[in-house]
Amino acid sequence: MNKSLENKSILLIISGGIAAYKSLELIRLIKKAGGHVRCIITSGGEKFVTPLSVSALSEETVYTSLWSLKDETEMGHIRLSREADLILIAPASANIIAQMAYGLAEDLASTTLLANLDTPVLIAPAMNHAMWNNAATQDNIKTLAERGIKRIGPDNGDMACGEHGPGRMAEPEAIFTAISNQLSNKSTNQLKGLKALVTSGPTYEPLDPVRFLGNRSSGKQGHAIASALAKAGADVTLITGPTALPAPADVKTINIETAQEMLNACETALPTDIAICAAAVSDWAPETEQNQKIKKRVASTPPPIALRENPDILHTIATHINRPSLVIGFAAETNDLIDNAKAKLKTKSCDIILANLVGQKDKKTFGEDENHVYLVTLNETQDWQEMSKQAIAEKLVAEIATRLKPDTLKEAAE
Ligand code: C5P
Repeated sequence: MNKSLENKSILLIISGGIAAYKSLELIRLIKKAGGHVRCIITSGGEKFVTPLSVSALSEETVYTSLWSLKDETEMGHIRLSREADLILIAPASANIIAQMAYGLAEDLASTTLLANLDTPVLIAPAMNHAMWNNAATQDNIKTLAERGIKRIGPDNGDMACGEHGPGRMAEPEAIFTAISNQLSNKSTNQLKGLKALVTSGPTYEPLDPVRFLGNRSSGKQGHAIASALAKAGADVTLITGPTALPAPADVKTINIETAQEMLNACETALPTDIAICAAAVSDWAPETEQNQKIKKRVASTPPPIALRENPDILHTIATHINRPSLVIGFAAETNDLIDNAKAKLKTKSCDIILANLVGQKDKKTFGEDENHVYLVTLNETQDWQEMSKQAIAEKLVAEIATRLKPDTLKEAAE
């Protein structure tokens, strides 16, 4: 079993929100990975999960009150934060975020956070979308980010209140990955000071208000690259089509649907030092988008769909007046992989192509966690063998760091 959190201690603060039930699963994942987890539940949190269930899963005393003589003698609020390798607030309500931003010490959770010296803090916000979008919350989030507090989520989606929008807490698995990344000590600053742009996922090209042309891209590779770049200290903008993935931690994520929207967002994000186009951009879009649903009529022939060509985003970035120093594309080929990848380097004017075979028996690539890629430049071809998409992302970051001219790195660091 993977014991990636062995000897790591996490202080989990569960504040008030329906997403608190997901924190129980999170405790299970941390324990399974060998980590210790001590929990504080706020009075709001106690309305959604009980100290008994949290204590049973964490196998530790659960702390709830600042005024408990017993708790204070056993484990004072000062020690709670200082003995942890990471403080995780999941769910982080709008209220606890505001308390942190303003330095309030009203209960055990907020007092512990104020007494924290230098333990890293990760928050997983969860709230109604209007609360999330409220200028007050957005200002508080900005303040916390400026103070170095890391964040995962929130995701977009259906809310417990029946509304829809950004505010759902990130899924326990995604929070677990963010914790592991934060504690893995793998984080380097090799790309500190550099700006990177990553495209990911599919594009959806609308036919009418309900139908679209799309593809099966999961976004796993592009999101993993954005995350690895951020971990290496780069300032990352991720421009993604619709995927089921949470926004990676510490990455500015822009959600788009069409290729034209993706291109506009990319051009707005330029200039950057690095661009990695991992999105599966639809080559074509319907020539016209009907503004009413196309109706099926009895005994009529299916409607013809005229297509127009979409802009080539990779080529546009690689020939842009603000061209990044390093432009990297992907090539999915069914045959003559290396020859086709070399040809693509020229037609797209990019520096590196990561090429992989698709359409092979038992190898879908789309949606899978593993891939077998080749790094192709004009002068060399490297076989990276089969590895996880996350490992590919980390290897690519190492490649980028060695390939970017040392003076670019030096200038960026100054
Ligand atoms: O042309 P093809 O789709 O084979 O090229 C793949 C590469 O080009 C990928 O990096 C993909 O992100 C990028 N691409 C793009 N815009 C398009 C089509 C592909 O950025 N319209």
